[in-house]
Amino acid sequence: MITEHHTHQPGPDPVRDPWRDSMRLALQEAALAVPAGDVPVGAVLLGPDLELLATGHNEREAAGDPTAHAEVLALRRAAAALGEWRLTGCTLVVTLEPCVMCAGALVQSRVARVVYGADDEKAGAAGSLWDLVRDRRLNHRPEVIRGVLADECARQLTDFFRDL
Ligand SMILES: [Zn+2]
Repeated sequence: MITEHHTHQPGPDPVRDPWRDSMRLALQEAALAVPAGDVPVGAVLLGPDLELLATGHNEREAAGDPTAHAEVLALRRAAAALGEWRLTGCTLVVTLEPCVMCAGALVQSRVARVVYGADDEKAGAAGSLWDLVRDRRLNHRPEVIRGVLADECARQLTDFFRDL
């Protein structure tokens, strides 16, 4: 009888492993959305030397603002902290694949890299439904690293919707 290995035991992943600690921060930030009834999505913005510049979590309900997504808030706060709208060399780490609005904002901000956890098959704009951030017609195309702590990120969302 052939032994089947149903539990996937990944080895070192040199692409994703360096972002795991930042994704854990983003997961903690996402949890802050829940008390206001907001879907838990969290983002952290890292500077060129990977220093923490800003964080954000979904505040649509809390702020009554349709644009108050985690990514947009983190981008605004980082730009305010730097006194500069160009976030050259920066990395945005977010628990869920960005939507079209956030993907647009990420391109506008000129971040170097977008790291995300769970795919959003229904609205993702970084490879799932659209690939706005890497559209070849755009001059600026951030690098995309997907699937960092994907299971934890997806579970946080499914737990939230299950508890509703
Ligand atoms: Zn968004």
